[in-house]
Amino acid sequence: MRIIAAVRLSRVTDETTSPERQAENLRDYAKRNGHTIVHEVADLDVSGGKAIRKRPGVGAWLTPEHLGDWDAIAGYSIDRMFRDLYDFVTFYHDFLKPNGKSIIITSEQIDMSTSDGVMMAQWRVMMAENELNKISKRNKDAAEWTRQAGLWKGGQIPWGYMPVRADYNGRPHWVLKPNPQLKELINHIAGEIIAGKSVAEVARILTRMELPTGRKLPSGEPRTNWRPGPLIRLLRMETLKGYVPYNHRLIERDGKKRTVYEFVRNPDGSLMRRDPILADDKWAELQEALKRPVQAARGKRRDASPLLHIIKCATCKAPLHHNAFTSRGTRYRYYTCNHQGTVNCAERSIPADAVERWLEEWIAKGDWAYRKMIEHRIKPGIDHKEEIEKIQLQIATLDQLAADYDAQHAKWRAELKRVLELPVKPPEARDIELDLLLKDYWPTLTPEQKRAHLLRAGVTIYARRNPDAGSPLDIWPEGDPTRVVGALTRKAA
Ligand SMILES: [Zn+2]
Repeated sequence: MRIIAAVRLSRVTDETTSPERQAENLRDYAKRNGHTIVHEVADLDVSGGKAIRKRPGVGAWLTPEHLGDWDAIAGYSIDRMFRDLYDFVTFYHDFLKPNGKSIIITSEQIDMSTSDGVMMAQWRVMMAENELNKISKRNKDAAEWTRQAGLWKGGQIPWGYMPVRADYNGRPHWVLKPNPQLKELINHIAGEIIAGKSVAEVARILTRMELPTGRKLPSGEPRTNWRPGPLIRLLRMETLKGYVPYNHRLIERDGKKRTVYEFVRNPDGSLMRRDPILADDKWAELQEALKRPVQAARGKRRDASPLLHIIKCATCKAPLHHNAFTSRGTRYRYYTCNHQGTVNCAERSIPADAVERWLEEWIAKGDWAYRKMIEHRIKPGIDHKEEIEKIQLQIATLDQLAADYDAQHAKWRAELKRVLELPVKPPEARDIELDLLLKDYWPTLTPEQKRAHLLRAGVTIYARRNPDAGSPLDIWPEGDPTRVVGALTRKAA
C-alpha cells in the first residue's frame, strides 16, 4: 500500500508522541507490513485544533488531483490525527469510505489493509459515535436544565433585575436577582398608583429623577424621559412577579411588530420564578389600578379632587372631572362630565361639595357604616420552589466531563423527583373580617387615602343633577366600600 504518513507537531513536549517518535513509529510499521510511505506530512498542533481536511500538510493530499497518489493515510493515534471524535467520525464516513481509502492508526491496531483492522476501525467509529451521542445528549440535558434553572445567559434584563455572578461547582454562571434600589422604587411606584396616583404623574417624577428607562437615544445616551404608555407596559410585565421569559420572537400583529415570549416552566408544569420584584397580590392590585381609564392621559391637571376616577356621570357613564375657580373671593368647585357639551351628554356640572357631603354620609350613616372591614387576602401556597430550583441548578452545572457524571446526574434527578412528589398546596384566597367597622375606619384616613380606598374597593359613584325638583342631585353608588384586596391602608403613624 502507498501510505501518507501524517505526523502532528505538538508544542507540548511529550516524549512518547514527539514528532520524531511518531514518524519513526510510522516508518517501522510500514516496513514491517510491506507498505511504502510516499509522503510524510507534518502539521502544527494549533490551539483549538483544525479538522484534518483543513490542515495545510495533510489537507493537500486529500484533494481530487492527489487522490490517485496514495491508498492509506497513517497516523500514530486518533488523538494525534484528529481534532476530536467528531472529526474522526466524519472523516471516516465522508472521505475514507466514499473514496475507497484506508486508515492506519498504529497505536490502536487499526489497519484497514487487513480485515481485522477494518473491523477495528468500524468498531472505533461506532464507539466514537456513541460517545458523541452521549456528549450531545448531555449538552442538551444541560441546556434544558440551565434554561429551566433560570440562569442568565445574556440578553435583555427584565425591569428591576440585575445579573449577579454565581459560582456553582466552581463554574461561573450568572443569575438575575432583584436590584435592591430598583425593587424598592418599583414597589413604591406600584403603591402610589394603587393609591390613586396617575401613571402620567409617576412618569413625570421618574423623568425628574433622571432614572434611565433602559432605552437609548439616537446619540447612544440613556433615555431618561418616561412616558406613561411605555411605563404602563413595564408595570404590566409578568417578569415583575419573577417569571422567567424565554424564546423571545418578533411577530407582526395588526401591522405592528411585537415581541412575544413564553415562560419557563418547571418539570411539573408550574411556572419557574425568580425572587420577585412585586409580591403577587401587589402585582394584581397594580394591574387593577392600571385599568383605570385615565391612566394613560397626559394629565396636565394637578387635581386634588377627592373623587377623581371614582365619580362618573349617571347619564353617559363618562368620568367626571374636577374643576375649581375663584370668583370675587369665592371658591367654586364642580364635577363636570367629560362629555359635557358634546353630542354625547347634556348634563350640567355638579357642585363638588354636595357630592362629597353625600359620600361622607353614605359611608358614616348608610347601610355599610356598621359592617366590618374585610381584607381579601391571597395566601401563598407551598410549592418547594426554592428547593426545586436549587436541584435544577445542581443538575445544570454538573461537570459533564467528570467520571461520575452519570451517577451524579442520576442522583440529582432522583432527588428532583422526590421533591416534585412532595405534597404541594395551591395559593388560597380568603376573606379576613376585621374587628373594625367602616364608620370607625373611615375617619382615620386622609382625603387621599379615602380616594385610594374607594379605588381599591372598586367603588364607583354615579351622579347627575336631578331633573325633578325633589333633591338637587341624583346619586347612586356601586361597589362594596368595606372590602379590599390585600391589606387595608393605615394612616401613616
Ligand atoms: Zn355625561
